Amino acid sequence: MTGGFDLGLERVAELIKEGGYRRVLIQLPEGLKERAAEISERLTGETGCTVIISGDPCYGACDLADSEAEALGCSALFHFGHSQILKNTAVPVHYVEVKSGWDPLPLLARNIELLPRRLGLVTTVQHVHLLGAVASFLKDAGFDVRIGRAGGRAAYEGQVLGCSFASARDVADEVDAFLYIGTGDFHPLGVALSTGKKVLALDLEKGELRDMDGLKDAMLRRRFAQIAKAKEAKSFGIVVGEKQGQRRLGLATRLLKTLEEHGRRGYLISLREITPDALLPFRHMDAFVNTACPRVTVDDAERYPKPLLTPVELEIVLGTGEWEDYEMDEIG
Ligand code: SF4
Repeated sequence: MTGGFDLGLERVAELIKEGGYRRVLIQLPEGLKERAAEISERLTGETGCTVIISGDPCYGACDLADSEAEALGCSALFHFGHSQILKNTAVPVHYVEVKSGWDPLPLLARNIELLPRRLGLVTTVQHVHLLGAVASFLKDAGFDVRIGRAGGRAAYEGQVLGCSFASARDVADEVDAFLYIGTGDFHPLGVALSTGKKVLALDLEKGELRDMDGLKDAMLRRRFAQIAKAKEAKSFGIVVGEKQGQRRLGLATRLLKTLEEHGRRGYLISLREITPDALLPFRHMDAFVNTACPRVTVDDAERYPKPLLTPVELEIVLGTGEWEDYEMDEIG
């Protein structure tokens, strides 16, 4: 198989039958919503259960629709595409860890000459089942391979999330570089920033090996520009996420106090989805600090008319943190 995802629907149907569920809510990440009809028909056909598809945006297991499932009279929530983060839920939650069907070895073989000898492996949950084969391939070719322990929000060795890079840091001192297996730039950039190591991204979708150094420098320049703009700000909106696994009210309250101590004004704003439109009514504030999903700040800041900072960046603005010690914002 070269791409696509295995949804593991046989197992989901079994769980529905075993649980005796008559009505369930299914929650899909944005990239899988196009398969919602197929999933619903298959599960209803095999189990007779009523399937409700959650149409709200879903970017991570920090954002479970368990309360919505309860309100809709569902016996369980099936959350596709992410590993478990939250423990206490309103209804039983089954995590359906969707597996990518890519074979990384041909791409790896074509690029093997470009890899340093001491390598750490990192990936996201969709590709975590590929790490064993990649590690064996590299070890057979004479590489010293390390995979960090599960930690932070990661359920698996070598897994990273957009808000949790602990498994990379776990082996950072033992490697010359990290090899990221997966797609996109955000996760390998996060590994580069949280470890200070070179990161090479084996992009399974684009079929290329990418050195993240240039993109990391470009990202840091963009963050530096946001921090520089915010230095003049007198008032700050501190965004508190309403999603259960993004809610950092304690941190937001501490930031509010810090702002006051530095002679700036702060206001707590709770939001479910953080978008430029949602912050538009607060344009009378000079800058914003996002304590919810860190990815929103780093990926989308240019779409906002006012500076949008991470908590770490606010410290740099106020002079209590140093640009030289810049870190990714992480949760948990
Ligand atoms: S907080 Fe953001 S990066 Fe972390 S799991 Fe949720 S969506 Fe992903």
